[in-house]
Amino acid sequence: MLQSLMMQMPLLISSLIEHADRHHGDAEIVSRRVEGDTHRATYTELHRRARQMANALGEIGIARDHRVATLAWNGHRHMELYFAVSGVGSVLHTLNPRLLPEQIAWIVNHAEDRALFFDLTFLPLIEAIAPLCKTVKRWVVLTDRAHMPAAPKLGDLLCYEDWISAQSDRFTWPHFDENTASSLCYTSGTTGHPKGVLYGHRSTILHTLASALPDALNLSARDVILPVVPMFHVNAWGLPYIAPMVGAKIVYPGPHLDGKSLYELFESEKVTFSAGVPTVWQGLLAFMEANELKFSTMNRTVIGGSACPPAMIKLFQDKYGVQVVHAWGMTEMSPLGTTCTFKQKHTEWSAEQKLPVQFKQGRALYGVDMKIVDDEGAELPWDGVAFGNLLVRGPWIVRDYYGSGEAAPLISDEQGKAWFPTGDVSNIDADGYMQITDRSKDVIKSGGEWISSIEIENIAVSHPAVQMAACIAAAHPKWDERPLLIVVRKPNASVSREDLLAHYEGKVARWQVPDDVAFVDALPLGATGKILKSKLREQFREHRLPVT
Ligand code: ADP
Repeated sequence: MLQSLMMQMPLLISSLIEHADRHHGDAEIVSRRVEGDTHRATYTELHRRARQMANALGEIGIARDHRVATLAWNGHRHMELYFAVSGVGSVLHTLNPRLLPEQIAWIVNHAEDRALFFDLTFLPLIEAIAPLCKTVKRWVVLTDRAHMPAAPKLGDLLCYEDWISAQSDRFTWPHFDENTASSLCYTSGTTGHPKGVLYGHRSTILHTLASALPDALNLSARDVILPVVPMFHVNAWGLPYIAPMVGAKIVYPGPHLDGKSLYELFESEKVTFSAGVPTVWQGLLAFMEANELKFSTMNRTVIGGSACPPAMIKLFQDKYGVQVVHAWGMTEMSPLGTTCTFKQKHTEWSAEQKLPVQFKQGRALYGVDMKIVDDEGAELPWDGVAFGNLLVRGPWIVRDYYGSGEAAPLISDEQGKAWFPTGDVSNIDADGYMQITDRSKDVIKSGGEWISSIEIENIAVSHPAVQMAACIAAAHPKWDERPLLIVVRKPNASVSREDLLAHYEGKVARWQVPDDVAFVDALPLGATGKILKSKLREQFREHRLPVT
């Protein structure tokens, strides 16, 4: 084959920070820190410190392919490590502090992390897991000398600021194969052990390019991005890479994720764009509602990780003038798969007509192919009605889990193409908009018919007295499973079982209306802020549905 005559340049993560330094050197990185202050830096400074950290890593013997772990909030030091660790050819392993200590230790051992960098907040957690972490040789506290804790049990702790300031900033990012591993993130493991997804430089750069596009997250040098989604949750959905690629200012909230703190930061830093799971927005929206506040600059937010209730989309758009981009993805997909943005034909539609489109999870980014299949693997039509198992393929989608020792999860089709089974159930309409109806394990199977738990939950949260809702299957002697709705009421609001069931009238077929409603004070949330249905199923195993 005739070879192209274009330059051969590996797609490397270091190129992002080099680009930001050279072309957007004065764009800011603002961080609210654990220490209580607000830190300001530029891309030029961040690049300098990443080079210093690259030298520091060499000093403690971190070499290519070694895994380096972080237990840290969203902040500039964490971002420095994103570039320093991956930039030298090592693997940045972001740990989720919301997992159980034993799970974290299991993951550290599985990944064989050599060093672990942590925010002060996590000192008690580190003290608990340190004796269990066999491979970690160095513990680094992400703080300065004045805030260094006394932790005799941990031995010789390194102070990040002291250590970095002692390093030269002369460092040239090495060039290597673009398929080299760059970062590692374990799925939260709601069933079985967590599984490691090992991203690479090439997959990350391609994901970054595609995610920044207008019909994806639509980010530019004029944006101020505040990722509420944590940097330990699939690399904050790629935002720490996208911001330097487009030259946007980025604002990190650190541990301050309550409604008041977020609102103040949105306003003081003139944030235009944010991203998070639906549960985090509840705190913010409740605070704004209670204090009759509005946004001055915020105009878009991406919501994903679990289905965004239509009521939340409407509230953001109608009351606060913030356009919601509903998005779907997975740890296994780096994470972005679909975003819900409009097509040409929608431009003439009224806001009211467009809403049902926005409730869907959206259409595939270039780079992601998807299809729905039945249980025998036969492809289903794109008519917005037929639903089945959602399969995906693409250059930023997992091929195999890290060190799993099990067969790769992929499914081959007749043409020999490999697809990743997402475990989600969805339909796809004729315009290519995909709508998740459930996770396959959450679907409610009533007398052979499937009921979408997401649809039932969305209707529940559209009731003014409902704060949160989850719908699970409860055992039924005749129908096998019937929907049980579990509800958290808004503070000081009252609503009865009968009121709620009446709220379903005319919204779904009668046989889809839940058989019962249970009221609880809170729903169990998993490590990434999603409702833990497995726990609810356990909790309500003995629940007897009323006999009708
Ligand atoms: P975990 O599996 O650790 O919870 P992920 O963030 O990888 O972490 O979860 C991916 C899953 O989250 C998807 O397979 C899907 O079930 C769900 N999900 C993500 N985004 C959406 C969305 N917009 N609507 C409905 N479900 C979603």
